[in-house]
Formats: sequence, structure tokens, C-alpha cells
Amino acid sequence: MCFRPCAAPPRFALALLLWLYMGMAWAAPVGGFVVVALDAGHGIKSQGAISARGVPEFEFNRRLVIALDAELAKAGIRPVLIAVDGNTEDLLSRPRKAREAGAQLFISVHHDSAKARFHRDWQFEGKPRKFLDDRFRGFSLFVSRNNPQWPLALKCASAIGAQLIASGFRPSRYHADPVLGSAREFADEANGVHFFDNLAVLRNATMPGLLVEAGVIVNRDEEAQLAHPATQQRIATAVGAGIAACGS
Ligand SMILES: [Zn+2]
Repeated sequence: MCFRPCAAPPRFALALLLWLYMGMAWAAPVGGFVVVALDAGHGIKSQGAISARGVPEFEFNRRLVIALDAELAKAGIRPVLIAVDGNTEDLLSRPRKAREAGAQLFISVHHDSAKARFHRDWQFEGKPRKFLDDRFRGFSLFVSRNNPQWPLALKCASAIGAQLIASGFRPSRYHADPVLGSAREFADEANGVHFFDNLAVLRNATMPGLLVEAGVIVNRDEEAQLAHPATQQRIATAVGAGIAACGS
């Protein structure tokens, strides 16, 4: 709809331009990353770990990616969602899609388990299920030294770990243990970051890539917390703050 006069008077036009510029400034990302890929680990066919109550890991990954998507968009970062429909079975297409979308950072979102020999039996809603005791809990972060930009990936993983700890989450330690885990070398012990050089999604990413295990869903208490939308939001807020901190 246009009533006379259609052309804005010069002073109004200047004000309009200033308003548009300020709007763009407010929408600009807090850190240096403009486009960030969020990869939902696993899929509908290969669902990853099964939680203590029988929920597939992919479902947890998908929900956290959706929470992260909203969090990054709020900060002015353009999220690129990868594999959220659950139909991506291969690993190599994930970093490739991130590159094609111009992503400057690749984050693969997972939830954790542990070796089968530590799984114990219990029943939930009349069905036999497996659970892990409290030696297995907490978040973990992984970077690969085969990723061409791993020093920046490590900076981001450390920043995310620091933000998660500041938000009350605890890093796991069992991946570094030769018996409980796989003697996975710490890259930044204080912030729960490990080296995992052969992780395919990170090795094949051309941009800095990191993998986050948000928590252990086979631990019954931790699963209950991770299933809660408020916890997913707290994790998303912390990860978003970490991304902003390392990209700047
Ligand atoms: Zn996984």
C-alpha cells in the first residue's frame, strides 16, 4: 500500500538507513563465526546408544540440535542443520554438506554410553534394559589432529567445556581411563576435551570440527536430566556461549 508521498523525504530516508544499519549490527554474530554446522549424530536406522529407559541416542541428539539451532540463531549465527531428519547413514556426507553450506565450524552432537561389559540389567516399564553406574556420567568433547584446523577446533572445544562447567555440568573422566574407557588422551583435561584423531566426521571436515557428547544417557539419573527440555536449553546456552567466545 502506498499513499502520497511515496518517496520518503531525505531526513526520513536517512533515519531509515540508520535504523536498518543498527538492526544489522544487532543481528551480527557475537563471535567471529557467521555459519555453524550442527550435525545430529546417527539416524533412524543406526540410532547410536540406547538410553537406560530405551530411547535411541539419535532422538536425544536431534532434540539438542534443535535447541542449539534456536540458540545460535538468537546470537545472529546462521546454523546449518545436518542429518536432523535421521536419513543420513553415511558419515562423509555430513562434513561435505557443512562445507557446501559455507560453515566455518562443524559441531557433531552426540550422547554417550560406555563399553558393554559395564552395562547392568534392570527393568523399565516391564522391559529389560541396560544401565551404567555413576562412574559413567558427564559431558565429553573430542577433537581430531587429522582435522586441518584442529588448533581452532580445540580452542572452541575448550571454550564450550569451560562454559558447560560454569553452567554446573561436569566433564566425564572415564574415556581417559584404560579400563573404563579407551585411554583417550586429554587435549584439555580441565575442560573435558580429548583427542580422538580417527573420528571420521572430524577428520573429513575442512573447517574446524569438534564432537560433543552432551552426557551419558545410559546413566539413569543423567538420562532423566538430559531428557528435560530445561537441561537441553542450559546445554544449548553454554555451547552457544563457547562458540561465541572461541570465534572472536
Ligand atoms: Zn553417538
